[in-house]
Amino acid sequence: MDYIRLADILFPDVTASPEDMEQKFPPRSLPEGACVTRIGPSPTGFVHLGNLYNALIGERIAHQSGGVFYLRIEDTDNKREVEGAVETVINAMNYFGVHFDEGAVSDGDNGSYGPYRQRQRKDIYHVFAKHLVQRGLAYPCFLTAEEIDTLREQQTAAKENPGIYGKYAKYRDTSIEEVQQLIASGKEWVLRYRGTETDEYISVNDAIRGKVEMPRNNMDFVLLKSDGIPTYHFAHVVDDHLMRSTHVIRGEEWLSSLPMHVELFNALGWQQPVYCHTATLMKLEGTGKRKLSKRKDPELALSYYQQEGISPDAIWEFLLTVLNSNFEEWRLADPDADYKDFPYSLSKMSISGALVDLDKLRNISKDVIGRMPAEKIRESWLEWCDEYNKDFAELIRKYPERTLAALNVGRNAAKPRKDLETWKQACDFMSFYYDETFKVTDEMPAECDEATRKQFFAEYLASYDHSDDSAAWFDKVKALTDKLGFAVKPKDYKKNPDQFKGSIVHITNMLRIALTGHANAPDIHEVSHVLGEDIVRARLAKWC
Ligand code: GLU
Repeated sequence: MDYIRLADILFPDVTASPEDMEQKFPPRSLPEGACVTRIGPSPTGFVHLGNLYNALIGERIAHQSGGVFYLRIEDTDNKREVEGAVETVINAMNYFGVHFDEGAVSDGDNGSYGPYRQRQRKDIYHVFAKHLVQRGLAYPCFLTAEEIDTLREQQTAAKENPGIYGKYAKYRDTSIEEVQQLIASGKEWVLRYRGTETDEYISVNDAIRGKVEMPRNNMDFVLLKSDGIPTYHFAHVVDDHLMRSTHVIRGEEWLSSLPMHVELFNALGWQQPVYCHTATLMKLEGTGKRKLSKRKDPELALSYYQQEGISPDAIWEFLLTVLNSNFEEWRLADPDADYKDFPYSLSKMSISGALVDLDKLRNISKDVIGRMPAEKIRESWLEWCDEYNKDFAELIRKYPERTLAALNVGRNAAKPRKDLETWKQACDFMSFYYDETFKVTDEMPAECDEATRKQFFAEYLASYDHSDDSAAWFDKVKALTDKLGFAVKPKDYKKNPDQFKGSIVHITNMLRIALTGHANAPDIHEVSHVLGEDIVRARLAKWC
């Protein structure tokens, strides 16, 4: 068969050669050992945690080695595309502090290995498609979806492997004349790779999983769909070669198609990148684990973390904990180090499913915020409020100094308080510092009846001196506790409950609730100084 002629019939407009492409996108000049990595999200409008997870690995591998990390938009699946989705991906990554050196930007491209949107690369794929046809390695196939379905049913019934291969590849050797006729009659075609019937195995050294052995591809899989747009398989191989990726980091769901990719790299004579198939994100359910699901688990969407106001640093720490088994140990040894100094390594990755545990994330987040200077907390929290809680943003702007002082409450103690978990929860927790949002939500302790309350607050205010230091202030509280018939030492009350109305715990809880609305709040003396004398007096006077 005259494959050169067939190629000209199928791709009359393609004049460039593979060599032209090699020249246009030459190997990058990077230092020895520098890695080139990418993420290739589909523009579906839904950016999931897995995208960030893979991005973080790619970013670390590239930037730790002085290489390049880029964004490629994998938009070959027309049906899934949503308007504005590219911007959504870029913004989400940006929010989480993942920055690309190169790739798609909202209004075009940044870099010389583009275009970085696959639909815009059609001409490039066609150069290699034509080349494969010329070499007899690809051919047009006119099977309809119905014919393929019927075939699949027959194969399944006969206990044969389903698919287009060997004797089932009906159009493999169709004559040029017939191909011309079929095309002229308007029949749609796809371009298929010509698979080899073989018992061979391929062996790939996955950087995460180690040696992976699989049967070599024998399928006539699709390279170009009927609209001339490539499948993921063809686009992946062409793009990662021409963009000079050294490592392909992607979810383990792609592992099963690896034989097709290996086949294409070999057929095109290109060096394979290092494959890194990452473990699927799982969550605990009951006594077992299951895959995170888009329908059931809001935490799969990256937007969830933005809406909850989980700081990007916390997400990084959390994902590094999930990703590298030695991260926690490293963090314990040096609590103040920048996580970017952690020597991330592919070989320390789990392959048995990465566990997304939101309680763990919240704990990490508490530690992360606990380590942040108050100014930084105020700034990041305000940034989040500007987007998600405008009323609160106004309060932070109206009372910048009070906010800062409030954020510092309890932080200088031997065991610093870690009250804040997320920016959303901070709006709740911090609400008592502002009259505009202050609300008494907890019930006063039952031990403190109305008469006790009235007397306590009246006397407390009468002797209140805002300039008292913590010890002087507490002495007054103790004296008043005693006067009201409450035990100054909680253990005395425990021993002889009949002798007292309650203990100092009830008294201070009452005071704390009047001042902050909650029994569980930071130190009263410190809080009073953040609020200022006027607010303290006004809040307590309501109970007299
Ligand atoms: N577009 C693919 C996905 O969203 C990317 C896989 C890859 O990184 O190669 O899963």
